[in-house]
Amino acid sequence: RVGDPDRPTWLRIDLDALAANVRHLRALAGVPLMAVLKADAYGHGAIRAARAALGAGAEALAVATLGEARTLRAHGIAARILLLGYTPPWQADETVRLGLDCTLFDHDSALALSRAAQSAGRPVRVHIKVDTGMARLGLVHSEVGPFLTVLHQLPGLEIHGLYTHFASADEADLRAAQAQLERFNHLLADLVAAGLRPPLVHAANSAATLRLPAARFDMVRPGIACYGLNPSPHTPLPPGFRPVLSFHSEVAQVRELPAGTPVSYGGTYVTTQPTRIATIPAGYADGIRRAPPWQSVLIAGQRAPVVGRICMDYTMVDVSHIPGVRRGDAVVLIGRQGADEISADEVAEWLGTISYEVLTSILPRVPREVA
Ligand code: PLP
Repeated sequence: RVGDPDRPTWLRIDLDALAANVRHLRALAGVPLMAVLKADAYGHGAIRAARAALGAGAEALAVATLGEARTLRAHGIAARILLLGYTPPWQADETVRLGLDCTLFDHDSALALSRAAQSAGRPVRVHIKVDTGMARLGLVHSEVGPFLTVLHQLPGLEIHGLYTHFASADEADLRAAQAQLERFNHLLADLVAAGLRPPLVHAANSAATLRLPAARFDMVRPGIACYGLNPSPHTPLPPGFRPVLSFHSEVAQVRELPAGTPVSYGGTYVTTQPTRIATIPAGYADGIRRAPPWQSVLIAGQRAPVVGRICMDYTMVDVSHIPGVRRGDAVVLIGRQGADEISADEVAEWLGTISYEVLTSILPRVPREVA
């Protein structure tokens, strides 16, 4: 491996893969691309991901919170950054100061932003969030026109964007996503007729970028596909995309345990025969979830099943069937080793969740090594 990370458990981030994925998406979409970097770029490290995405042709970035945007600006990233979601009124001054694009869907926040823009003497670009069927954030059709009319009267606001978010573009059945798209198109037609359509309309997450070409509008807004992962089992990425992240560790200790030995907290697992156990220095505080448990790791290109309860910092695996395992041997938790691969999607299946949660559960104490 490249140098020694500061723990024997680390993530490798393949920025060439990220850049290639962004280029693929950009070419496939045929419109500008806003790379979604929320939650520290889905656990990949937002600063390096931002640079790689911009270097590969992304025109804009999106984050969830002001703090995430602040970090990017503090590292010299001057590109357009959209704050997705709720930015409370008390964050208006810093939003303007950092030159961020801000999502709007309520009057209090609009007023606060307008005041902040006036006192800073610079306009702030806003994007109206429309709820077409996600029922999370945003205005419904009938509220958008009146809201835009109010915004036009507030000094300092540049009404730049209008967007929505799909709830089901990654499901096998696309009818709900198509219904959202129809609602959004209906609204856009009304706004065009009223002369109120903002210049930048965007809607497509990764799944919609891939499966609903009509949802690409003026810009696409993919997250997970930039990181080389399928939005869902129903939405596999086309060939050419590569996962950006792999998760590595090394064997801390190997022991031969006689039959009848309880392993780990609670002794819930007891060896039934002489068993060789390897202890891996990674646990639930590293994102190796305890329940439902992570199931296996790769050692010497073979699957070693997890036995006993996963601890905060350690996980025990059975390596009886893998000859010659020794302290220091390479362990892969997510990624390829030899002929086998544990994908983030497979881990998500074990844990009853989605790859997004697997990635964002890997805490900052796990060092990220850039490959
Ligand atoms: N747009 C918004 C508003 C989001 O919340 C997200 C993430 O969930 C995305 C785009 C990117 O979604 P995905 O990672 O599925 O491409």
